[in-house]
Amino acid sequence: MLASLPWAKPSAVLSALMPPEWTEDAACKDLTPQKADQLFFPARGHSSDAGRALCSSCPVAQECLNMALEADAEFGIFGGVSARQRQALVKEQNGGASKRKPTLCSMGCGGRAVARELCQRHYDQERYRATASA
Ligand code: SF4
Ligand SMILES: [Zn+2]
Repeated sequence: MLASLPWAKPSAVLSALMPPEWTEDAACKDLTPQKADQLFFPARGHSSDAGRALCSSCPVAQECLNMALEADAEFGIFGGVSARQRQALVKEQNGGASKRKPTLCSMGCGGRAVARELCQRHYDQERYRATASA
């Protein structure tokens, strides 16, 4: 069941996202939510080996990892990769910076996006326009 996928766990950052189509092929899709929690969100001091083992047989492990990276998932095993390993990956990709590069404004102004993929100025402009035309 889709509800049993690890990102359906309420505490997961990814819970807000609709599971994408590839989750149909996920090796974990038939797990109960409890089992998925155990495997992919092991309690402190518990082994994550069983979760990783399942991921290693999963045909969509790469998609899964990409999604966790996109969503900046702070916890859990995705694509067989732990949160700590993801942090290291991001750091490596960013040339040593532990935070992901800020998203830039979609208007191409080079500003940093603060809301709805817009910088503060473009966001304010859009809101102003919306109020003006209302
Ligand atoms: S990689 Fe692991 S967590 Fe991700 S979909 Fe596959 S089995 Fe599930
Ligand atoms: Zn802008």
